[in-house]
Amino acid sequence: MPMPFSSIRHQLFIDGRFVDAESGETLATLNPHDNTPIAHVALAGKADVDKAVAAAKRAFPAWRRMAAADRGRILLKLADLIEANGEELARLESLDTGHPIRDSRRLDVPRTAACFRYFGGMADKFQGETIPVEEGFLNYTLREPVGIVGQVVPWNFPLMFTSWKMAPALAAGNCIVMKPAEITPLSSLRIAELMAEAGLPPGVVNMLPGLGSVAGQYIAEHPEIAKIAFTGSTATGRRIVQASAGNLKKVQLELGGKGPNIVFEDANLQAAVNGSAWAIFHNQGQACIAGSRLMLHEKIADAFLEQFIPLARSIRLGNPLDEQTEMGPLTSAQHRDRVLSYVEVAQAQGGEVLAGGGSPGGDLAQGCYVQPTVVHARSYQDRVAQEEVFGPFVTVLTFKSDEEAMQIANGTDYGLGSGLWTRDLQRAHKVARDLHAGMVWINSYKRVNPGSPFGGVGQSGYGREMGFDAMREYTQVKSVWVNVDAQIPPHFVR
Ligand code: NAP
Ligand code: MG
Repeated sequence: MPMPFSSIRHQLFIDGRFVDAESGETLATLNPHDNTPIAHVALAGKADVDKAVAAAKRAFPAWRRMAAADRGRILLKLADLIEANGEELARLESLDTGHPIRDSRRLDVPRTAACFRYFGGMADKFQGETIPVEEGFLNYTLREPVGIVGQVVPWNFPLMFTSWKMAPALAAGNCIVMKPAEITPLSSLRIAELMAEAGLPPGVVNMLPGLGSVAGQYIAEHPEIAKIAFTGSTATGRRIVQASAGNLKKVQLELGGKGPNIVFEDANLQAAVNGSAWAIFHNQGQACIAGSRLMLHEKIADAFLEQFIPLARSIRLGNPLDEQTEMGPLTSAQHRDRVLSYVEVAQAQGGEVLAGGGSPGGDLAQGCYVQPTVVHARSYQDRVAQEEVFGPFVTVLTFKSDEEAMQIANGTDYGLGSGLWTRDLQRAHKVARDLHAGMVWINSYKRVNPGSPFGGVGQSGYGREMGFDAMREYTQVKSVWVNVDAQIPPHFVR
């Protein structure tokens, strides 16, 4: 029997090989179910980032010139390998992050494979244009890779976000230096290993677990890294923009959110109750697109909550590896404490806890668990209605009219995911038009697909992942002018 991946001492992946950090430093990664160590992982420092950049520079000329279809074929092979190793990846993700195993199997692993497959197919279909210009000239565009890209990934969906970031970058011919979150490096390292098996040339992808303040910051500053793509908090996003100024890096940011999920009085209540629970409690609420502001029309608020609160209370918390578990622990103890601190924040401004509000005891007391929590806020300007909590914590707000709903929905600095529930076609499209958001779900919530653009506006960041937009983000356009038979009068007549 081979050793399970999680029990190995993990190294950095640089130039196609696993190596120790130059400093020899390691960090334990914990199982959030009971806070016990599951693996020791090398910790990248500046010298390791420099080594990875040098490897990427060596790999880039051949990788960018490789036929796009051949690059695509490697990604397609990787998608197959992810499926073939799906159970191992699902268990690894659940062990490291706390995702319920049913979600890791049903969502994280298939979505990761689908993303690599989509962009594998995209590699040779993304093309430049010919542009009708003045007589005698031919003008065409080339879509060229940006170069070496830095990618910094958070801990909420490490496996899936590794694919969202890498797949379009590789399809477009870039080389990558990636830093997974320090608390959830395992699935990304396993992906790096599978990439080598799929035939990815050494140096094209380098995987550097490390601290954000050290390796992450240095990637953002590095003069030879041409672009940085980041998913995480708005505060860190701002720091990355500042660090990127030295060499004017291209920056792509996918930051926080405070998703409005609006239930109008004519909604199918049962569907809205169920969808709204999914919107906030999936992945323990640790999602930038979570429907964390539950906005109810006052006419249906009581009827809605009569169903919603018992549903929230009935969600089965437990060990993520148990197939019956519907909600696992949060990903770290520090984050659990931060989420729980928002109960007091709510109460200090007159908010009322309608469900949850604490940690479960018993068998789960050692872990990073938080009960599904429902809080009623007095005003949409209260802190719990404005700040991203990033946990199984939903803020209920009520409204009287469509106009008031829009004022509340657009009343934060964020603009990422949003949802609305109504049977009125005209209202649905009007609200979709007027929401300050990157994504709108009508009579649904939290749908994603590799073909559909994903990203935000305002303090939720800029740039788009997925689809053709992602290919645009990872390429630069070059305009080529050819004099075919133009007769140009001389500019300087002598
Ligand atoms: P974070 O600091 O933004 O971390 C995200 C990633 O950025 C991690 O890989 C982190 O490394 C790295 N990082 C940290 N400081 C950096 C720097 N100066 N330069 C470059 N990279 C850096 O998020 P967090 O502190 O873990 O979570 C705090 C809050 O952020 C959450 O409560 C939530 O509100 C929000 N968040 C949002 C998302 C999202 O999907 N939009 C994801 C995660 C968190 P380390 O792992 O070493 O910290
Ligand atoms: Mg962990």
